Amino acid sequence: MTRLLLIGPPGAGKGTQAVRLAESYGIPAISTGDIFRSNVKNETELGAKAKAFMDAGDNVPDSLTNALIRDRLAESDCESGFLLDGYPRTTDQVRDLDEFLASHGTALDVVIELVADPDVVVERLRKRADDQGRSDDDESVVRHRLDVYASQTAPLVDVYDGRGVLVKIDALGEIDDVTVRITEALAGRGIALPDHSAR
Ligand code: AMP
Repeated sequence: MTRLLLIGPPGAGKGTQAVRLAESYGIPAISTGDIFRSNVKNETELGAKAKAFMDAGDNVPDSLTNALIRDRLAESDCESGFLLDGYPRTTDQVRDLDEFLASHGTALDVVIELVADPDVVVERLRKRADDQGRSDDDESVVRHRLDVYASQTAPLVDVYDGRGVLVKIDALGEIDDVTVRITEALAGRGIALPDHSAR
């Protein structure tokens, strides 16, 4: 079982690294942002509830997010572990996740913080806005998302550090180099790549 969390500001490269790590460690990457986006796209009830918050760059209410993640973690592909990307994002979500994992006799093994300078992430998100056209990558919304991260999510880093499960990774530089840094940090925590995996 490998239970991981990637945490970091918008634009730090969480989604990119999550996909790569999930593949090499053979665990599902679970992104609440992706789940919300696909619900908005498919015009589901959940999507209708989440859309206004997402477009404004605000967090979707914890009640919706916690319920969604509990359902997702109960799916069978999570039996060998999982990599959370973008959840938990608030102290209330940490409490709910702790409670859910504890009720299954587990906890997060390692929390990977992707550390990136705000000016760099704003520039990266500007590029992503051109490439992908995400409605929340507009510059004023990006600034707001960074503020929301600083006020609501950044404090979680200290919580996990206090539990001794945090590793800090420099998120700047080439994508491959960041993946190697993460893989090495995980190896240092006793989480090795499965034999069949190619980095
Ligand atoms: P992301 O793809 O992680 O940048 O998330 C995009 C948007 O989805 C965020 O700005 C929020 O509106 C919403 N969202 C994603 N994850 C969460 C979460 N854990 N709690 C609340 N809102 C979330």
